[in-house]
Amino acid sequence: MSEESSGIQEKAPSSLLTPSTSLTMEKITSLAKRRGFVFQSSEIYGGQNGAWDYGPLGVELKNRIAQAWWKEMTQLHDNIVGLDAAILMHPRTWEASGHVENFTDPLVDCKKCKSRFRADQIPPENLAEKKCPDCGGELTDTRKFNLMFKTHIGPAEDTASVIYLRPETAQGIYVNYKNIIQSNRMKIPFGIAQIGKAFRNEIVTKNFIFRTCEFEQMEMQYFVKPGGDVEWFEEWRRRRWAYYEKLGIKMDHLRWHQHGPDELAHYAKDAYDIEYLFPMGWRELEGVHNRSNYDLSRHTEYSGKDLQYIEQDNGNERYIPFIIETSAGLTRTLLMILCDAYDEERIVPEKKPDGSEEAADDWRTVLRFHPSIAPVTAAVLPLMKKDGLAELAQDIRSELKEDFAVDYDQGGAIGRRYRRQDEAGTPFCITVDYQSKDDGTVTVRFRDSMEQVRVARTELTARLRQEIKNYKRIK
Ligand code: ATP
Repeated sequence: MSEESSGIQEKAPSSLLTPSTSLTMEKITSLAKRRGFVFQSSEIYGGQNGAWDYGPLGVELKNRIAQAWWKEMTQLHDNIVGLDAAILMHPRTWEASGHVENFTDPLVDCKKCKSRFRADQIPPENLAEKKCPDCGGELTDTRKFNLMFKTHIGPAEDTASVIYLRPETAQGIYVNYKNIIQSNRMKIPFGIAQIGKAFRNEIVTKNFIFRTCEFEQMEMQYFVKPGGDVEWFEEWRRRRWAYYEKLGIKMDHLRWHQHGPDELAHYAKDAYDIEYLFPMGWRELEGVHNRSNYDLSRHTEYSGKDLQYIEQDNGNERYIPFIIETSAGLTRTLLMILCDAYDEERIVPEKKPDGSEEAADDWRTVLRFHPSIAPVTAAVLPLMKKDGLAELAQDIRSELKEDFAVDYDQGGAIGRRYRRQDEAGTPFCITVDYQSKDDGTVTVRFRDSMEQVRVARTELTARLRQEIKNYKRIK
């Protein structure tokens, strides 16, 4: 395999790159729209609050994040299985779970300007004086507002037909726990993983896709023997932290936050959030919770079904398992990954032989996705359309398609095409030039370092696989 430099060098080697500039949510939102990651829902009608659509690059990225999580949480464990439960569940589920009673936000309205606020998110003095933080008008009393979307099933809109859009995926797991033990002969400890949509009537939905009314969750519920819960809780905290490290996330942008007594949910024995440093500050990304035996006890009570586990290897000992939950937002993880990957670089002009610099500066926006989750893994670019280079490049593209998500671009200057791929987060560009015709080699250009190596076409698939596996983020 030949690996000399290709001669299609960009302006500057990586050693001359200057540090990144600061990130704002506006930059992320605008790149997401421009490149087809995320669009506002129903934009032509002025948009729908709290809802977003995932475009061609966005849906690829979302699917890959989901696949990576699924692999991590099911394939890599002998005792975790998957589930895909319905969004619509029996309404008693939400009484048992405590959502009908407790899943509320405290709300106040301004009688003058009609703005609505979460009482816990406005300055305490405004709340005490009942004064609107926006216009100074009078605020209403605080009232509880349930976040569940309520609708009706069947033709009659009476109370008997009330049904909710699930506000979390976890309950679908709890109500199937016995089915899964029986059908799959699961033994404690074991886990059930699920990815799916959830709905919450959120009042404040700013910050792009961070908090939305329709979103997706990736949840895993791990059933353990009472008494073993503290150890398993620590183990799952360790594993979830290690997962983000493996994905190449900036670890100094992640931290743990333990819920204090005021924050702890009614069901939780102990709870930690993994927080990420988003452009608007530290915010929750994922929760790791010790839910005690609350969930299965409540479902026993409300359904009248015996949900005890029978430990056959131990004299048929019966108990209600404790549950350790790991609960991450899929769409929120996508936002985290966009923010984490985003970089802007000034590519300093190369010095000329006489020591002077070229006049023009060049900037690039680059998304440094881990190659295993990048929406496009490789782009094939013929240096010229003519002389059979386009045909050769198309041929290489068809060959790679079987194994990777591949893009093809033959339009415009090569430097501009690299920039387009950088902005989409494509880790590898494969450039086909005249030498490719002669000796069967192509250039692989790396997104992060902008370095280029020549690789024999026959070695390309193996080389890309190896690069994906050994990837280490350099910035
Ligand atoms: P928050 O405090 O941000 O409202 P939460 O504590 O209510 O979140 P959980 O009920 O623990 O969140 O949900 C688990 C995960 O689901 C969260 O860590 C988050 O990633 C995601 N999530 C929750 N609500 C939303 C939402 N409205 N939009 C997008 N993702 C969400």
